[in-house]
Amino acid sequence: MASLGLPVPPGFTLSTALCTEYYANDKRYPESLREQVGKALSAVEKVVKRRFGDPGNPMLVSVRSGARVSMPGMMDTVLNVGLNDETVEGLGRKHGDMRFALDAYRRLLMMYGDVVLGAERRAFENELVNVKTKFGDARMPDPKVPEEALRELIVSFKSIIREQCGVPFPQDPQQQLWGAISAVFDSWMNPRAKSYRRMYNFPEHWGTAVNVQTMVFGNLGNDSGSGVVFSRNPSNGDKHIFGEYLQNAQGEDVVAGTRTPSTIRTRDGSGESNKSSMEMLAPQGFSELLTLIEKLEKHRRDMQDIEFTLEQGKLWILQTRSGKRTGEAAVRIATDLVAEGLISKDEAVLRVEPAALDQLMHPVLPGPKELSKKGIEAMAKGLPASPGAACGQIVLTPEEAESRAAKGMSVVLVRNETSPDDIRGMKAAVGILTATGGMTSHAAVVARGMGKPCVVGANAVSIDEEKQIVRFNLADGSRKELQAGDIISLDGSRGYIYGQGIEVAPLSGSNERLDLLLSWADEYRRMVVRANADAPADAALARRFGAKGIGLCRTEHMFFEEERLLAVRCVLLADSPSKRGDWLAKLKEVQRKDFYGLFTEMEGLPVTVRLLDWPMHEFMPRLEKDISAVAKALGEPLSVISRRSSSLRENNPMLGHRGVRLGLTHPEIYAMQTHAIMEAAADCHEQGHSLHPEIMIPLVCTAKEMSLAKELVKKSAHEVLDRRKISMEFSVGTMLETPRACLVADKIAEHAEFCSFGTNDLTQTVYGISRDDAGKFFPQYMGDELSVLTVDPFSSLDPKGVAELLKIAVEKARRTRSGIKMGICGEHGGDPESIEICERVGLDYVSCSPFRVPIARLAAAQATLKEKESASNSTMAL
Ligand code: PEP
Ligand code: MG
Repeated sequence: MASLGLPVPPGFTLSTALCTEYYANDKRYPESLREQVGKALSAVEKVVKRRFGDPGNPMLVSVRSGARVSMPGMMDTVLNVGLNDETVEGLGRKHGDMRFALDAYRRLLMMYGDVVLGAERRAFENELVNVKTKFGDARMPDPKVPEEALRELIVSFKSIIREQCGVPFPQDPQQQLWGAISAVFDSWMNPRAKSYRRMYNFPEHWGTAVNVQTMVFGNLGNDSGSGVVFSRNPSNGDKHIFGEYLQNAQGEDVVAGTRTPSTIRTRDGSGESNKSSMEMLAPQGFSELLTLIEKLEKHRRDMQDIEFTLEQGKLWILQTRSGKRTGEAAVRIATDLVAEGLISKDEAVLRVEPAALDQLMHPVLPGPKELSKKGIEAMAKGLPASPGAACGQIVLTPEEAESRAAKGMSVVLVRNETSPDDIRGMKAAVGILTATGGMTSHAAVVARGMGKPCVVGANAVSIDEEKQIVRFNLADGSRKELQAGDIISLDGSRGYIYGQGIEVAPLSGSNERLDLLLSWADEYRRMVVRANADAPADAALARRFGAKGIGLCRTEHMFFEEERLLAVRCVLLADSPSKRGDWLAKLKEVQRKDFYGLFTEMEGLPVTVRLLDWPMHEFMPRLEKDISAVAKALGEPLSVISRRSSSLRENNPMLGHRGVRLGLTHPEIYAMQTHAIMEAAADCHEQGHSLHPEIMIPLVCTAKEMSLAKELVKKSAHEVLDRRKISMEFSVGTMLETPRACLVADKIAEHAEFCSFGTNDLTQTVYGISRDDAGKFFPQYMGDELSVLTVDPFSSLDPKGVAELLKIAVEKARRTRSGIKMGICGEHGGDPESIEICERVGLDYVSCSPFRVPIARLAAAQATLKEKESASNSTMAL
């Protein structure tokens, strides 16, 4: 920014490389550092014509973190470094404002005590309230605290430090500086920074830089102030600056959310007019700010999140970074920047985090007018900090949020303001509500990054943590109380809070800008995106989201309805082929209708139907009423059916009699399914629809299993085609979902005409960890203490073990059958990181649940672009 000619307070940077070295050397600095910092400090002193530690004209510095990517509020900052009993007098005299100097000093004591020396922040806060009470009003705004009170505070803050830390506050500015530098480096490893990195998968070795910068002051009277501004709206991407301003305040007051700031513009996007905006209060600074924002955005070619300070009319830019944004805003900004000629289409495709699209697929609450018609009124309104609808039990602490969420409850975290320590509670919650704070407070920024609905600055809400109560001052002057554990709903898109559960409306998924971005993604993407869908309605949704076929239809999912379930149970528990045959015939008819629905919804596109892989234990009747229904249907005594059901029980059903094993030992089941598929296909064919059914065999481990299953399927298919005198192409392939199948993929490919990786089972069998039981110990495995796993391998493909098997299998299968179509249909098919692996190993398609199809389309395009880029880099290196 300095080199662009922007007004930036002079300073210098200790690089991230130094941070890495600091940790590698037991937190020791290289010998030459002190000298280098000394030189840098003198250079800055020359520019600002003040000296660090000079009692007459002191220079103060801020010491802040600066990581490679923005980690809002996760690391520490110390402001006003360089103040002591002497320099505070000099600063006061210099500005002709002793109150201001004393206020800066008490802030240093508080921050230094808390961040560097480890005193309890709350002790300082309590003392501040005590002194305010003594001087007349506990709720007195900070700028109104008189000089005398500040002098008292300084004395008591010093004794808090001495008592709690066993050392006095250092009067030596150099000692302060080094204490602050080390504290900022140390904060790279604090629990909240670690947990933030883990959540976003940022590596530990990046380290943070430390920026030492001269202080400018936003609290030097009414011609001063601090603010945060986004160059575009971070919630919806509107091309309007959007931000907040606090007159006569330091920046920390804005971001900490302790005071609710006013807007930058008099009229913001909502059309409401604000008389205490920066535009009204400081018109000159405001118009300068507009020019600088434009310059910065053009230079960085992205939406910026800018912190600034107005010091007695002079504008200073303290920081700029690419702003965090919601999924909706990300799509809008990327497409607008292309239209404005600032970025290219492929850059736009790379700019949007695929996971952020998830938010666009998320449900929202109906509007207040619509709800009012149903007699539902909002209890309060706050700022719509992060869109979407959240409904859950009120929790008042992050610990409670975590513990209830771990029991499977949906919780809404309600706080006066959130501090970065709340991050784990925010992660566990479905939504966040705060009583104070603005759109740029930590709660808002972090919630937007997480894509969680969030309402902040709801002034009508107050929280009594001790009594576990949330109080609402309603618009009609009355009061209402809710207890922790009561249900609350948040409208993060509009800011409304409702004291009850409200049914959410799913999004239609239609969004012109998203469609535009995805159409660009489709131009770059190499892999095809299909959907996992078992019902015609899911197939229709998937097609609307852009799926180019079905990659997995789990036929057993078609059996969950009560009537069908009975038929399935009868098939499993019948003791004679003829009885089983009767029930199979019933199932065949329903399956035929389902397949017909799928084929017509996916007209012209491939549909892969997987033959039965039912987890037998899930289908067995357990309740007496269910057992007796089966007994009645099969005409046998209850005790017989009960005994037969027990005899089929397996010790380890996930590794038991399932998949192709069941298919080969009960050939009539696969024959029935093939008949149903081919009958439906023949119906479609006769009606003129084009289609290509793909029949897939699950859980194959050996070539022999595949050859037998293929023979069975082909024979059954031809029985239908011959009878109906139709000739139609269809293929028979397999899932690769055991390590053995991957290792002998060359042999299996002698029979299989296509392969799809079932990475759910593959992950289960590679790790030897049951899919059904992993949840019991994964939280500990992924927790801070053990850290055995950083990500759940059932959500994101294990890049070492499982990916290696994918690579081997692709190479082997293609050696036998060149050009064999290979894809993935496990849960990983919709996960952006896993999709990158699929691109690298050369899969032809990914298949995922319908709601993840847009994410997969974008992620697949990014994967192709990144692969191209790394290929061209390695060519250049050659
Ligand atoms: C798989 O194992 O990855 C798969 C898609 O099959 P299922 O989840 O039905 O076992
Ligand atoms: Mg499987």
